[in-house]
Amino acid sequence: GSGEPLPVLGLDVTVPLADGRRVPYAALDQAASAPVLRQVWDEVAEYAPYYGSVHRGAGHLSRLSTELYEDARETVARFLDCREDDQVVFTRATTDSLNLLASALPEDCRVYVFETEHHAALLPWRGAGPTLLDAPDGPAAAVAALERALAADDDGRPALVCVTGASNVTGELWPVRELAAVAHAHGARIVLDAAQLAPHRPVSVRELGVDWVALSGHKLYAPFGAGVLAGRADWLDAAEPYLAGGGASRRVARREDGGLDVEWHSGPARHEAGSPNVVGVHALASACRVLTEAGPDLLAGREEALLARLREGLAVLPGVRVLSLFGDDAPRVGVVSFVVDGWDSAALADRLASSYGIGVRAGLFCAHPLVRHLLGGRPDAAAECGEPDASPLNAVRASFGVGTPVEHVDRLLDALVDLVAEVA
Ligand code: PMP
Repeated sequence: GSGEPLPVLGLDVTVPLADGRRVPYAALDQAASAPVLRQVWDEVAEYAPYYGSVHRGAGHLSRLSTELYEDARETVARFLDCREDDQVVFTRATTDSLNLLASALPEDCRVYVFETEHHAALLPWRGAGPTLLDAPDGPAAAVAALERALAADDDGRPALVCVTGASNVTGELWPVRELAAVAHAHGARIVLDAAQLAPHRPVSVRELGVDWVALSGHKLYAPFGAGVLAGRADWLDAAEPYLAGGGASRRVARREDGGLDVEWHSGPARHEAGSPNVVGVHALASACRVLTEAGPDLLAGREEALLARLREGLAVLPGVRVLSLFGDDAPRVGVVSFVVDGWDSAALADRLASSYGIGVRAGLFCAHPLVRHLLGGRPDAAAECGEPDASPLNAVRASFGVGTPVEHVDRLLDALVDLVAEVA
């Protein structure tokens, strides 16, 4: 059975179509940002009157906010099944979390990333000049490629591997546990980009054996603004603070020579200078609680039923090609990218919005090398339709989550039946 969706906001929002009608909006771009869980929003509203500064005031509201903020760390640590001495640092989102880790690499650290990563995981390592690994054609090939790369330069220098848990383009699950084992066998560490994995599957730091996890609240059914970097404390405590300012410093004093003596905190506060986003963090923790209570069946089971429905529907449409790196049978989350013969993807996404009230995304999804790799073999669709300027190098992405009703998937399939027929 596919079970009931979790209640989320936005299901009663209607949008205008090109012909003047209004229809309920079908939010199928949840890999970008997911709708907020109703319970999360309710908990934020309950807290709003008590809102106060964190780690600052002596007043009741400030104390309450500080308590909620610190409780949220515990909630997130439980949600991610962290080890005893892991620390949870609050950030703005996954991009911020990975940049924070990049700023904390030990000297001479080597970094390994697959070219298939989201730009947030591909780009923060500028200074370290990452070793790019070719797109693998399956999970076993990914593990073998990492093994070869790490073995080739086993020179005792520190090393970090950064890998996604679930692709934001194909939805495919990466063999994180196996990659972590290979990394550790070569003395390397590994950070998991769980931006797309955490909204769809339980994530256990202990079981996966990763050193750090990064995720975003706004993809995890909480409102915008808060993210997490959770994991080992040592590199983070040894690094310069990611942001310098109040809250990160334990003691600041003017020296005789006029300069400043600064003693930084260790622990999460070291990298959280400034007034923290207590509302966002509270919401994120609330989402973690709701998802934990919902259990793995809702996260995986229900979504798999919707995913099967969507993929089966797409499979019988002529001229539709679903993008896949690991093959059709690879396990995946509710993220499906595809191209349709005769359609430019951006035009197709526009029509889904303007004629059907369906929100999807078209483009290269901040993963340019991956999309280029996946579409490399595509015949020039623009030339076929006699539009030499239209770029065929983009795809349509439909993605859903724990709140998606099955009707939204059916509406997308029905719309695509029409639109495919239009160019047939
Ligand atoms: N990694 C992956 C796999 C993603 O899908 C995204 C967001 N599309 C990010 C990282 C970046 O997340 P954020 O924009 O929340 O920083």
